[in-house]
Amino acid sequence: MIMKWEENVRRVVPYVAGEQPNKPNMIKLNTNECPYPPAPGVERTAKALDCGALRLYPNADVAPLVEALAEYYHVKPTQVFVGIGSDDVLSMAFMTFFNSGKPILFPDVTYSFYDVWADLYRIPYKTCPLGEDWHIRPEDYRQPNGGIIFPNPNAPTGLLESLDTVEEILQANRDVVVIVDEAYVDFGGESALSLFEKYDNLLVVQTFSKSRAMAGLRIGFCIGNEKLIHYLNDVKFSFNSYTMNLPSQVLGVEAVKDDAYFKETTEKIQRTRERVKKELSELGFTFPDSKANFIFASHKSIPAKEIYQALREADIYVRYWDKPRISNSLRITIGTDEQMDCLIDFLKKYIEQA
Ligand code: PMP
Repeated sequence: MIMKWEENVRRVVPYVAGEQPNKPNMIKLNTNECPYPPAPGVERTAKALDCGALRLYPNADVAPLVEALAEYYHVKPTQVFVGIGSDDVLSMAFMTFFNSGKPILFPDVTYSFYDVWADLYRIPYKTCPLGEDWHIRPEDYRQPNGGIIFPNPNAPTGLLESLDTVEEILQANRDVVVIVDEAYVDFGGESALSLFEKYDNLLVVQTFSKSRAMAGLRIGFCIGNEKLIHYLNDVKFSFNSYTMNLPSQVLGVEAVKDDAYFKETTEKIQRTRERVKKELSELGFTFPDSKANFIFASHKSIPAKEIYQALREADIYVRYWDKPRISNSLRITIGTDEQMDCLIDFLKKYIEQA
């Protein structure tokens, strides 16, 4: 029976995050986390955290972290906004910028949170099909719209669009906000940050969850024109003043300080990715040429769902979606070399006996 009060519930179909199993010997390649620990300074500072300070509210405008990011990316602190993971930044941006009543545009195969936020905030949307080669077709973004969002590299394909493509989309859409979600850009992509001085409607969103190995602390940020950042802050401060907790603020700064470790880790992951591509090809897999920390692979004869289940039984977790266009692909996060060796060994044996 439907209760009277239920007529006024904001009903939503929530985003389903990748599972977070916790088994002693599992190999977890399903949520694009970094297989290496955060920078050593993060651990040192975490151990020395003064718990007495937790008595107080944290800095509401996250100034030290905003300043560290501004310095790192050579922008002004007034051009940086920080949130609780990039999911929070993206969600705030949807609420702040996509209010025209016209449909916003994003690819049909993309991060599956976009349609959830659009539904949550009652934002109409239209998806633009990726080409057969999985690339964005910039001409699709020349239709009337209320804003644009796409990840670059895209997820779950891992494919990178050139800055020329990004700029082509920006040029055709000067009157709406264009969000480039760069969650995976540090694994060999080219950031649209170089374009933000030129386009006051460009918002570039990044995260500490993948390349900075801090998914557990929930730190995301975006960089854009001062006006965009100002509007975002107004919404954030109308929502909840003290969003980012003190440890995340302090440890986030430590991660930004250690650029050598950041580069070393992201390069290591890219080297592993490239050799895993070769090994997967030899086993009969095909995939778009990923520039992210995952590979989106299909096997020439064995359905992805079967491989996914077999891997799962062996406590090797990868991501699988039973959705149009992608139901025969597995998204495999790049782990350590040892983890990837285990995956490849398993797949070799599995495919031989299939
Ligand atoms: N954007 C994309 C494309 C992602 O894949 C993810 C990870 N699920 C996010 C944003 C959000 O990551 P986080 O909230 O951990 O920063």
